[in-house]
Amino acid sequence: MQLPTYEDVVAAAARLDGHAHRTPVLRSATADARWGAQFFFKCENFQRMGAFKFRGAFNALSRFDAAQRRAGAITFSSGNHAQAVALSAQLLGMPAVIVMPQDAPAAKLAATRGYGAEVVLYDRFTEDREALTQRLATERGMTLIPPYDHPDVIAGQGTAAKELLEETGPLDYLFVCLGGGGLTSGSALAARALAPQCKVYGVEPEAGNDGQQSLRTGSIVRIATPKTIADGAQTQYLGDYTFAIIRRDVHDIVTVSDAQLVECMRFFAERMKMVVEPTGCLAFAAACAAAPAIQGARVGVIVSGGNVDLARYAELLSGS
Ligand SMILES: *Cc1c(COP(=O)(O)O)cnc(C)c1O
Repeated sequence: MQLPTYEDVVAAAARLDGHAHRTPVLRSATADARWGAQFFFKCENFQRMGAFKFRGAFNALSRFDAAQRRAGAITFSSGNHAQAVALSAQLLGMPAVIVMPQDAPAAKLAATRGYGAEVVLYDRFTEDREALTQRLATERGMTLIPPYDHPDVIAGQGTAAKELLEETGPLDYLFVCLGGGGLTSGSALAARALAPQCKVYGVEPEAGNDGQQSLRTGSIVRIATPKTIADGAQTQYLGDYTFAIIRRDVHDIVTVSDAQLVECMRFFAERMKMVVEPTGCLAFAAACAAAPAIQGARVGVIVSGGNVDLARYAELLSGS
């Protein structure tokens, strides 16, 4: 298994140049004062299609040869990777098929179809999405681009932390939202090259701490689909590539509760005027919880996405 390197992140950045947004790094005086550190928020909620996943998908699809482009891309995803592949395929002029859970947020289903992709639905609690996707891929000759466990996806996701560190200079800590580990492992590749002293933390929902268990036990732990409001981190296991990089380059994996995510969503809305989806709050929720131990530190926070059904968003913030 050939792990992607920082050079692959640099190559991905060149492919993304002019296609992905260079998202802003925002500060909040209120956050700094309340938690006693210097926070640098890399706002991927402002990325194209509303999440960092555009980076990995566009990088992967950009590398297709002529035959692959003709047949197109296929993937499975609970949401943002679906939109990322759909938009990337549209921009690159190729077909896309997306296998999505029946209960995916309405906004995500609509957006995926809106980018011109064909959507195939499955039952998240009873069907094996990977087997289904694999069968369709074979039948149609399409190239499967998984949501996280792929070198080109990991390298693409790493470009967000690369941009962040280039803008801020060395950081003491970097907190990253963790599902299957594409964003965390890519971020770790960038941090290792650009800020070797920086401690990278992956952050999972409490209910789905398979990554934390994997790191503790030294092999990939599989769990049932966790029940959490962080729908982008309802993954059941890390990938082979992402786990290998996380084991080598990530300091630790920590967890936060759904209640902490809601508090964090409220902070982003009230104080920073940003709509951030629950999964996108994982990193900052953990940074806040770690505040007593990181006083005065320079802390990077990757705000990973902002795609949330507005009715759902209002419901979460009103506490019902
Ligand atoms: C996919 C996703 C994550 C988790 O990313 P992984 O690469 O699977 O670890 C976090 N936040 C958002 C908004 C996502 O869409």
